[in-house]
Amino acid sequence: MALKALDIFKLLPKTNCKKCGCPTCLAFAMKLAQKQASLDQCPDVTAEAKAMLEGSAAPPIRLVTIGAGAKKLEIGNETVMFRHEESFYHPPGIGVIVPDNLSDGELKARIEAVGKLQFVRVGAHIQSDIVAVANVSGQAEPFVKTVAALQKLDLPMVLMSKEPAHIDKALESCKDKQPLICGATAESWEKYAAIAKEKKCPLALSGTDLDALAAATEKIKAAGVEDIILDLTASGISETLQALTAVRQLALKKNVRSLGYPCLAICGGGQSAGEQVAECCTYVAKYAGIVLTELHGPEHILPLLTLRQNLYTDPRKPIQVEAKLNAVGAVTAQSPLLITTNFSLTYYTVEGEVEASRVPAFIAAIDTDGTSVLTAFASDKLTAEKVAAFLKSDAVKGKVDHKKVIIPGYVAVMSGALEEESGGWQVLVGPREASAIPKYLKTVWKSE
Ligand code: SF4
Repeated sequence: MALKALDIFKLLPKTNCKKCGCPTCLAFAMKLAQKQASLDQCPDVTAEAKAMLEGSAAPPIRLVTIGAGAKKLEIGNETVMFRHEESFYHPPGIGVIVPDNLSDGELKARIEAVGKLQFVRVGAHIQSDIVAVANVSGQAEPFVKTVAALQKLDLPMVLMSKEPAHIDKALESCKDKQPLICGATAESWEKYAAIAKEKKCPLALSGTDLDALAAATEKIKAAGVEDIILDLTASGISETLQALTAVRQLALKKNVRSLGYPCLAICGGGQSAGEQVAECCTYVAKYAGIVLTELHGPEHILPLLTLRQNLYTDPRKPIQVEAKLNAVGAVTAQSPLLITTNFSLTYYTVEGEVEASRVPAFIAAIDTDGTSVLTAFASDKLTAEKVAAFLKSDAVKGKVDHKKVIIPGYVAVMSGALEEESGGWQVLVGPREASAIPKYLKTVWKSE
């Protein structure tokens, strides 16, 4: 378990010599606990203390990489049970399972469908970032063929088979891409582990008996495979969720190193698509490192990606856009100029509505430290002075030949002060909700 600042402090020299750049050893300990400093910044730490501190710094849940290159997927290395305690760091891979019994036409269509599972949300690109092949045919040849065909997607892969020999053959088409090998159990891990070791691939170990899994991970590690993922898929959603939660708790709270690995969960078949989406969402939230499903429609995958994006945004750092003047559409000097904040969700909601209105417009994203309109106004981050300064800045100069600015309806109260501060700008109060922007631009703005 990661040491707390006071535990670290006890191991430091306590001379407050400042050589590390901190005023005291306690300040340095606090930085170390927050991972904002490195132990080698203190030249006087003893070898014994160094060994203890470095040992405690090893992550309680191993960071495992699947795939290679720019699209590799890194999972694990989480340090908290709940996001509000700190943050979640490595978003789970969300992937589609492609069975190996599809016809050529079906396989081509499935590959195309999986390739299209990419979206832009609040300015960020989000996508299904792993793909699995299931050896449902039980034969080697269709499995190998399907794995080879899916190389086209250039995504990290999961090779799922009850026959290690089939995985070995399929690896010929993707041996440098370090796919996740899936199919080993506490009883049958040896052949899988031998392949994983030889091909330098991560290995998934399936089962729901945590004692048996813990014993098997020790043996697999001793056999030379360190990158292990626990496939905790059980007979139902509640059993899988219990196992995922228990493993996270044991790794973080009890420091059980033999279960300190990221986990995988496969959403069950036989339910309605809506139920499967709900099941996948459950595993995204708690605590899977990879969530796999046979669903492949954008309407099924987008909710999972959206949930993942929300959960894995650091709650201490709201997603922000650059504070600047943005042009939406073919703007001219007569185009309207709207004010909003640089909180991504707010900005892109406004931008989407302006686009929908088909009225080219400028949108000024004011720097409010990534807070929304009302929060920024309440905390003095969106003030008449700040908006006026922006209107007078070079960012706006020469862009419009009118002096009319539209402010969000929720901050109508700043109109008077803004007119005074801005030196001649006419302040128009826009709608409170972004959804009313198209109507506003087409009616109220046009009549101004
Ligand atoms: Fe303390 Fe080491 Fe920093 Fe000196 S360099 S203040 S001994 S932590």
